[in-house]
Amino acid sequence: MSEKTIIIGAGFASATLSNLINDQNLMVFDKGRGPGGRSSTRRVENIGLFDHGLQYISPTIKEFDFFLNQNLKSSIKEWSGNFHVFEDSKTIDSKKYIGKLGNNSFVKDLLSTKVEYLKELVGLKRRNNKWALQFKDKDTQDCERVILTIPLEQCQKIINPLNLDLTFEGSMQPNLTAMIAFNKPLEISSVGIKFQKNSILRWAGNESSKLRIGNNENLELWTLQSSLDFAKKYCHVYRDKKEKVLELMIQEFFTLLKIKNVETSYRDIHGWLYAFKSEGFSNRFYWNKDINLGICGDWMCGSKVEDAWSSATLLANQINSS
Ligand SMILES: Cc1cc2nc3c(=O)[nH]c(=O)nc-3n(C[C@H](O)[C@H](O)[C@H](O)COP(=O)(O)OP(=O)(O)OC[C@H]3O[C@@H](n4cnc5c(N)ncnc54)[C@H](O)[C@@H]3O)c2cc1C
Repeated sequence: MSEKTIIIGAGFASATLSNLINDQNLMVFDKGRGPGGRSSTRRVENIGLFDHGLQYISPTIKEFDFFLNQNLKSSIKEWSGNFHVFEDSKTIDSKKYIGKLGNNSFVKDLLSTKVEYLKELVGLKRRNNKWALQFKDKDTQDCERVILTIPLEQCQKIINPLNLDLTFEGSMQPNLTAMIAFNKPLEISSVGIKFQKNSILRWAGNESSKLRIGNNENLELWTLQSSLDFAKKYCHVYRDKKEKVLELMIQEFFTLLKIKNVETSYRDIHGWLYAFKSEGFSNRFYWNKDINLGICGDWMCGSKVEDAWSSATLLANQINSS
């Protein structure tokens, strides 16, 4: 039997769609091992939890705030503490939601349908008024309607062979995120620091201050996100130069915050080839009702989870009314 709707990707846009699309017969496929996409959490035994993608959600649209509280009330909490911009010490005082058990629970707890993991879509063909999906593991699936919620470059790979005369502006930018457990508190008064002019760092977040079960209380956990220039330089090669890249980021953090005599008990780094898109937002979603093909994701509206939600919500409304 063929499915009615198949969604590709199990990130926040997909989880939003799974709640809004009127279809009992919905399936989600993702190439990863679990839900979340860029809303991801790494759990390290005896160390703790690192949100190495999405740090927090700060709703600016009241409907989005309502959606979060309506659908995720028991899974989220506010991240409290001081947040500031390094260069001018300005406070960042917006409300910041995090997942109680890690930021991947934003997606895990929102998804309302079955997901098959380790399923990478590599091809899409139109056959007898249906879609034929081809996965990397040679598996195939048929369905009436397909929705792609995958980052721009990955999406283009799938849709270009369809010759739909569909072009999207801009490209997604990389990011490198270091996860570090320090062997003692750093005694920094802020739990989140934004670097606006630094050539190596753009953000530092104190993961221990998220107060989650599973964090080793004898250590202080931080995530450091790289600047765009630094990511452009190292994202393609960081796997072969892990120690060097980590050391550059950690030493920069120590220098900026004047930290001395602290050692690390754990350190690792994750590279996001397609982290953010910061310009070129002409269509907020794509829906072609003649061939039942939809596309949505943060990159169609902006660079944040709220943009993934906006794009998915607009697409779901369009599909439900067509
Ligand atoms: C380092 C970092 C920090 C961030 N910090 C914040 C923040 O603090 N606040 C905020 O609001 N936003 C932040 N963001 C952005 C936020 O994470 C994204 O806006 C949001 O997660 C995007 O959701 P999505 O569903 O559109 O895409 P994704 O989460 O990328 O989901 C797409 C899914 O598609 C899957 N996929 C891709 N190709 C295929 C394929 N061919 N076949 C099958 N599956 C495929 C992927 O595995 C992935 O799970 C951050 C992002 C990064 C990288």
